[in-house]
Amino acid sequence: MASFFQDNDDLRFYFERGIDWASLVEVTEYGYRAPEGFKNPKEAVEFYREVAEMVGELSAEQIHPKAPALDREHPRIEDGEAVVGPAMTSVFAAIGGAELHKLCIPRELGGLNAPLLLYFLSAEMIARSDVSVMTHFSFHGGMAMAMLAYSIHEGTTKFDPAAGKIVETRFAPEIAEIVAGEAWGCMDITEPDAGSDMARLRARAVQDEAGEWFVTGQKIFITSGHGKYHFVIARTEEAKDPDDPFAGLGGLSMFLVKTYDDLPDGSRRRYVTLERVEEKLGHHGSATAALTFERAPARLIGQRGEGFKYMLTLMNNARVGVGFESLGLAEAAYRCAKAYAEERRSMGKVIARHEMIADYLDEMRTDVQAVRALAVASAYHEEMAQKLGLLERFLPEATAEERARLERELPRHRATRAATRRS
Ligand SMILES: Cc1cc2nc3c(=O)[nH]c(=O)nc-3n(C[C@H](O)[C@H](O)[C@H](O)COP(=O)(O)OP(=O)(O)OC[C@H]3O[C@@H](n4cnc5c(N)ncnc54)[C@H](O)[C@@H]3O)c2cc1C
Repeated sequence: MASFFQDNDDLRFYFERGIDWASLVEVTEYGYRAPEGFKNPKEAVEFYREVAEMVGELSAEQIHPKAPALDREHPRIEDGEAVVGPAMTSVFAAIGGAELHKLCIPRELGGLNAPLLLYFLSAEMIARSDVSVMTHFSFHGGMAMAMLAYSIHEGTTKFDPAAGKIVETRFAPEIAEIVAGEAWGCMDITEPDAGSDMARLRARAVQDEAGEWFVTGQKIFITSGHGKYHFVIARTEEAKDPDDPFAGLGGLSMFLVKTYDDLPDGSRRRYVTLERVEEKLGHHGSATAALTFERAPARLIGQRGEGFKYMLTLMNNARVGVGFESLGLAEAAYRCAKAYAEERRSMGKVIARHEMIADYLDEMRTDVQAVRALAVASAYHEEMAQKLGLLERFLPEATAEERARLERELPRHRATRAATRRS
């Protein structure tokens, strides 16, 4: 059986020898406090290997053969709803069947509690098979993790240190829907005249007398914007200094908007209008939507005015994810080029044996391997820094030995994370 895990020596090198799984397992299993969790790194890594093998086969056997169809089946809008093609529908049935939407979600929230690094290695394999599938996939579990992270940041998640588990979190019902493969989310920042320049965002959120929030405005270029849950950045305060181009960043707030409810009679009540699916040059399997919000009910996340800060929190992991997606795409491009060069003959030999083409191929392979080394290091330190930070906050009764280690290791992972982000 073809496998994008088995056929990639460099990727397997990291899995088998290049990643310090023991430290990742320990922080992911809350210092082995959870009774139903793995008890040692060996048990956990055996499970991670099964997942990597399964994703490698799923990518090679079930997604990759559908890549041409996925690019031809551009999603469209019918009766206000996005319609995706049969290839995308069958791929997501396979992904859902493999329970990949729940990969990194904590067990107590219905997930498999795997480290993010395993998700990122999987992201490379899925993106190698079809990058638009990976893009859409990332808006499932990735958004559930963002919901959890936001709830932790705003202080609405409760952790029981003795039991080693989360006992309460604000978005538990939404996370459960995503884990079950019944919903996904997206991040709505961009507007017609505001992309990089977020200070110019105009979508507004207002509060009524009962304290309920409503969002009005337009968003464009929203990846997987045909989903149910939208993190929306909207203006709650006008910029204080009209002459300062960055002043507008201060008046932004983050909201969670539900775009529809499916009613018992089978109909759907929409709160947000799906205007169009954007035209792109490629990447067609991934739906990119334009939306209008007309007093859509919204839930404020954190405090008003903290929208930019919350956006950056989500972007830290998203950047690493996009790095692994790009790596999968580069791996696919290198393999296509190599296969063609080993088959195409010119002047008595295959072109792969002409020196200049051989140099190109060597350079491509070296670049891909160098990026993988950087991506794995970056993902590892990012995850260690985030999870040690959580342990520091949620484990007040940590042993003296654990505390000493936290104090020693947290600054090291934070510093290396900062260095790899700069690269
Ligand atoms: C396929 C796709 C998916 C997307 N998905 C999402 C999504 O899920 N959610 C979302 O909110 N948005 C999404 N976007 C929108 C994306 O975030 C914006 O396109 C991006 O922020 C850039 O904004 P812009 O297109 O308005 O370009 P502009 O801001 O007009 O920039 C034009 C060019 O100028 C450069 N530039 C701008 N400001 C500066 C500066 N200060 N210094 C130097 N150079 C500068 C930019 O780098 C760019 O090259 C998506 C876009 C695409 C194409």
